[in-house]
Amino acid sequence: MPSIVAKITEEVQKIFEDLTGDASVLISDVEEQVSAAIASWGQRLSEGILSEIANAPDMARKSVVCRECQGRSRRYRQRSRSFTTVCGVLRLPRWEYKCQCGAIYVPWEARQHLKGRYTQAVAAAMMRVAAKLNYRAAAAELKHQGIEISHTTLHQKVQAWSVGESVSDYVGKASLDVGARWYVSCDGCYTNSRVGWQEVKVGSIGKDYPHQNATSVMKIRPPRLRYVASRGSVADFRHQLAALATQTGIYQDEKTIADEEVVVIGDGAVWIWNLADEHFPGATEIVDYMHAKTHLYDVAKQAFGEDDRDAIETWVDITETPLYNGETSKVVARIRALETQNPDMADVLKREVGYFQKHAHRMQYRTFNEKGYQIGSGVIESACKHVVAERCKLAGMRWSKPGINAILFWRCLLKNDSWDTYWDTQDRQNAA
Ligand SMILES: [Zn+2]
Repeated sequence: MPSIVAKITEEVQKIFEDLTGDASVLISDVEEQVSAAIASWGQRLSEGILSEIANAPDMARKSVVCRECQGRSRRYRQRSRSFTTVCGVLRLPRWEYKCQCGAIYVPWEARQHLKGRYTQAVAAAMMRVAAKLNYRAAAAELKHQGIEISHTTLHQKVQAWSVGESVSDYVGKASLDVGARWYVSCDGCYTNSRVGWQEVKVGSIGKDYPHQNATSVMKIRPPRLRYVASRGSVADFRHQLAALATQTGIYQDEKTIADEEVVVIGDGAVWIWNLADEHFPGATEIVDYMHAKTHLYDVAKQAFGEDDRDAIETWVDITETPLYNGETSKVVARIRALETQNPDMADVLKREVGYFQKHAHRMQYRTFNEKGYQIGSGVIESACKHVVAERCKLAGMRWSKPGINAILFWRCLLKNDSWDTYWDTQDRQNAA
């Protein structure tokens, strides 16, 4: 029997005798001692098993084929290296092979599904927790799960392992059921950086049936949304959203698919509608109803002052009816009426008038609603919250561009239900 097995067997025996020999032992004593022992046995047993394998005769052949030059790579030296596993940190001896071309190759390691010095199970746990919690909290949570990683290492890996990755590569094709429509929504939200607030752009793609008898414009949610989110140029984001649209199947050969209706929902941002023109020509364009309504509030706050809640509510209430009816000229007239009472606000009101005039055709809410479109699903706003803000907009956070984009990559994988697809792909890459 290998000495490690004999030793552990002895320890099992001892724990059993110790704990049964004292009638005052509580369940919590057993819990504490047994779980600590199991952790220690797991670590030593795994290390024992893997060291045994690493030293097996076919792991120590005199030479192997060099992967760089196809020449003969000779057995060079046995060195131990630490690997973080769910059974703890294991120190394992592995044979290194060295070729005349200079390449060093470790056959044993090449066969493992490792991400650097981490097993894939550990790497996946690290990324999942870091995607959800700030780095310090994530490191503490992982420690609780038996994985010791510093928050700085975690931070590094989150970035390093997402370099060159694209969320859309892990999304499967979806097809549009008869009668359903594709919805593409975009929005921007701000997160902090060392140089101030920076916009993160968020896009989502999903499908939905025309809704009937809509009683609330706020509660319509399409099933299964896919997201992309990043901080960067419009051009970068456009590329990512187009890739997501292609992967999802709504967009082929730089065109949306004939006979399949695409609806683009966004706020007033110029980049959104330029993007819609270029990538989703012919789409039904809708300015998110809540965004439009928020503009009414902005107008009213400017006109009446933040504190005059009654005046604000009354004005918005009355103005919302023509807004909903698609009578933008009436909305504009009501804004202009304010202008005469408050000349100082001229610029702000002028801008708001421009907003409602420019997007009038995207604000035909009553008609849209009657045809069963989502008009103010809240989907994209909620995406800004649950994809971005929940992790990236907490007190004291200052993000670098690569830092936030890395976290957004992992968060989108989780939200898109692409997590397993990603890790399966890693398996195949390592096995290749
Ligand atoms: Zn070589």
